[in-house]
Amino acid sequence: MPSPQCHAADAPRRLVSKPLAAIALLLAITMVVLSAIGARADQPNITMILATGGTIAGTQTAAGEPGYVAGKDSVASLIEAVPELKKIADVEGRQVSDIGSQNMDAKIWLELLRATSEELARPDVDAVVIAHGTDTMEETAYFLNLTLKSDKPVVLVGAMRPANALSADGPMNLYNATVVAALAEARGRGVLVVMNDEIHYAAEVTKTNTTNPDTMKSPNRGRAGVCDIGACVFFSPTTKRHTTNSAFSIGDEVSTLPYVAIVYGHAGMTAAPIKGALDDGAKGIVVAGVGDGNMSDVALDALTTAAKTGVVVVRSTRVGSGVVRRDIEVDDDTRGFVAAEELNPQRARILLQLALMKTNDPKTIQEMFHVY
Ligand code: GLU
Repeated sequence: MPSPQCHAADAPRRLVSKPLAAIALLLAITMVVLSAIGARADQPNITMILATGGTIAGTQTAAGEPGYVAGKDSVASLIEAVPELKKIADVEGRQVSDIGSQNMDAKIWLELLRATSEELARPDVDAVVIAHGTDTMEETAYFLNLTLKSDKPVVLVGAMRPANALSADGPMNLYNATVVAALAEARGRGVLVVMNDEIHYAAEVTKTNTTNPDTMKSPNRGRAGVCDIGACVFFSPTTKRHTTNSAFSIGDEVSTLPYVAIVYGHAGMTAAPIKGALDDGAKGIVVAGVGDGNMSDVALDALTTAAKTGVVVVRSTRVGSGVVRRDIEVDDDTRGFVAAEELNPQRARILLQLALMKTNDPKTIQEMFHVY
């Protein structure tokens, strides 16, 4: 006869063994179901692929011809074109827009921000990949970098060749982007861009070539990491504030962003584009200045007058790399200007738009250009 102690000891073991058997059975069923759909049990939850259009979803008008229409293919066909994606994560797709990114604007940014936030808030979604045209990819990446409130990876991806072109780059870019999005090390780095085997931070990246797949570069601080057919590594963290430690947030009530114009510097620059921007109601003007954010005397004077009326003037550069610092050749203190520091004109414009939702004080805005 077993002792009462033995009975007492056996009973809980039996109580435990039933749920264990049930869990084992459930796991076995899950493995069978996952292998049937091609996913692995140890891989991340859903990676949501949001499509906005661009060349990655573009179709050549005639096979072998360079002409094409951006944004023709649906998110479903982007995913279908890369069956390897389901070995990385359970992917789902959502179409946000189907534009060439030259038509990206504040309205679609706000829709995209809301769609991305919605997906990131889902407990079963681990990351978001956004397929986007490369023309304004850096701007969308930076806008989301400053306004999303999540540590989960968000990766923008595009292509330089349409989906049906010879040696299309979209599928490998989408594959690498999905791998990066699934990496634990991608969390908390802000919004990333993955193109042509390189990973870039949203605060750094810019398009540098009109047609070459090797177009996305981070001229000031260099790339964030590299990929080689899905083997992706990061080199260094970003030092800029973003996402969860960004002071900018967009409430449900926001339906547009303040109007900020960019005026382009050149030899013989007149005040005409500045006057045009002011006539259009610009609350801020970013100058894509020559060299170190310079411009002609006539442009300087027109902008100084504008700054006195409360329009915020930011000096950036058309050069493509380098830092525009205060008070070098232009006396920013006297004129009431802001120096863009490391931000190119298109990124400076986005930061200024968000800043203007809080203040038009140039000193406060200059501080923002130090940290974002
Ligand atoms: N203009 C297109 C766009 O930005 C083409 C650039 C691209 O996607 O690579 O959507």
